[in-house]
Amino acid sequence: MKKFLLFALCSVLPLCAAAQQNWKAVVRYDKQDAKTKLTEKLTEYVAYDTQAGKDAGKVPSSKGQTTFAKKLAKDLKRIGAQNVTVSKSGVLTADIPATSSAPLPTLVFAAHVDTTPALSGKDVKPQIHTKYNGGDIVINPQANLRLTQYNSPQLMSARTHDLITASGGTVLGADAKASAAILLTYADYLLGHTSVAHGPVKLIFLPDVLNGKGVRALDPKSLQADYAYVLDVGQAGEFTSENFNIRYFTAVFEGHRGVNPGEAMYSDFADNLLMAADFHTLLPRQRRPETTAGNRGFIWVNAVTNEGDRSIVKGEIQAFTNEEMKELSDLVTQSFNTVKNMHSKRKGAELTFTDGAKNLHPALPPQMLSQLQNAMQQEEITPAPSVRRDNGGLAAALTAGGLPAVGLFNGSFNTGTELEYADVNVMESALRTLLTLTADWPVETN
Ligand SMILES: [Zn+2]
Repeated sequence: MKKFLLFALCSVLPLCAAAQQNWKAVVRYDKQDAKTKLTEKLTEYVAYDTQAGKDAGKVPSSKGQTTFAKKLAKDLKRIGAQNVTVSKSGVLTADIPATSSAPLPTLVFAAHVDTTPALSGKDVKPQIHTKYNGGDIVINPQANLRLTQYNSPQLMSARTHDLITASGGTVLGADAKASAAILLTYADYLLGHTSVAHGPVKLIFLPDVLNGKGVRALDPKSLQADYAYVLDVGQAGEFTSENFNIRYFTAVFEGHRGVNPGEAMYSDFADNLLMAADFHTLLPRQRRPETTAGNRGFIWVNAVTNEGDRSIVKGEIQAFTNEEMKELSDLVTQSFNTVKNMHSKRKGAELTFTDGAKNLHPALPPQMLSQLQNAMQQEEITPAPSVRRDNGGLAAALTAGGLPAVGLFNGSFNTGTELEYADVNVMESALRTLLTLTADWPVETN
């Protein structure tokens, strides 16, 4: 109601213009028009094959990613974005200059341009299913490929929404081209309405994020920005505020198997294969990937190799907190020490740990999350903080590189599969969240 009053007052009193913060009071925004733009952009973008290469050592791992980045660059230049560049590694950066002279922080909105290396993204034929009215959505009748409320539970909250699927045999590529569609529509609104007061904004599009190589193509500090939001998969309101800390471990067992096994008992025979197997078996069963969920971390072994008298066990620990990481590291050490005690004839045994990704949460300034939640609430979207039971992807990598970043929903689901779909209404919610977040960011005083 308050918002409506402000709108009504400000539309008759030009003096309000300086005081108003809400972008909706300035911009003529039509939901249906926004949905049409988002649909047009997404269906146009999925025609670009940007599948990430599996093994290629270089970034970008496929040409299509650069072709697509250049296409976005051209569109951004056309609508008035500044400093639009595509680097040799295929990283696209663009600036939307500040319209306010107030000392506002620089915000970054980022997305990846690659699609999964696991399934083709070539010749994608998008299908638009308008006003979903419940029931199954047939993607491909010959292959009996369909979205149901069992394989896609998010459909239960998608009634009346417009949905976009592929046609079988490929991904849709909405992970993360739905983000590109949202960001280009967002840029179009901001650049077309310079009366909306906001701080500096940077848009970043990265290649090869899904194969883990592209995050190294960008130095987050070089952006000289304050806060970043990474648009990726998810339902309206979802944002990533937590991910796993990861610690790798390597246990090396040295034995002596080069004796006649019939004479082993009275020799210095020591079986490194058995030591490795014992170590694996002794790791706690109740802290394995398949026995843990929610915010409970786990230990898992992902390789056991033998080289003659040496056996090497490699694994990792994933935990949300430093306390849990210590607890699980101690369990690994205990199992290792037990194996050492069981095999007194061993020639050597060594356990080493190396730290990997960090939970981004402790590094996030609280205002990043509070501004985001404020923006959602203004748009009548319920904020839904989520924990990622993995390394946190691009948001965690940017945060580790010195630019605090939060993952944010883009309305794509079943990503990386033939059942992938985009919910245009959820994409539109993301667009409004970004616009309000940008226009309502308060001046910070330190
Ligand atoms: Zn993604």
